[in-house]
Amino acid sequence: MTTITLVRGDITRQSADAVVNAANSSLLGGGGVDGAIHRRGGPAILEECRALRASRYGKGLPTGQAVATTAGALDARWVIHTVGPVWSATEDRSELLASCYRESLKIADELGARTVAFPAVSTGVYRWPMDDAARIAVAAVRDTATAVDEVRFVLFDERAYEAFAAQLD
Ligand code: ADP
Repeated sequence: MTTITLVRGDITRQSADAVVNAANSSLLGGGGVDGAIHRRGGPAILEECRALRASRYGKGLPTGQAVATTAGALDARWVIHTVGPVWSATEDRSELLASCYRESLKIADELGARTVAFPAVSTGVYRWPMDDAARIAVAAVRDTATAVDEVRFVLFDERAYEAFAAQLD
């Protein structure tokens, strides 16, 4: 049984086996959660990201996929980087957003991670409407068979927290 928990706060302050990063396909850092994780986690994370670009992901990590690195100085063993889709009003990209959660949990299982902290992927710079993103995220986690004991959504503000809480009611 996987328990879903909600926390309002900064994901870089969480203690978990794995912390998920809402990365971009370059894997070379960005704003939002990505910037915060690299800032607090330190240069070891970027170093591994660069190595992944040079080896497996020369064209970048595709949208909806996930890959793990060290968590550097974070209170976690791994960072799982996933690339959310940019919101589109004309194209339904929900499957790609769901895939971020599924693929991250698959990597977590491969690593043996039992607690995984997720941000609300795609709801920042990528503009996905919060209520819809929360619905997709919670459904994707519930529909995924995983050995992870706790999936913790770490929501940055009250609005995001309320959107996820509504899905768990
Ligand atoms: P994306 O490019 O996937 O939209 P962002 O990092 O821009 O990713 O935003 C994703 C979500 O993470 C947004 O809801 C944003 O408010 C939130 N966020 C930003 N910084 C943090 C943080 N340090 N911890 C948790 N959530 C954060």
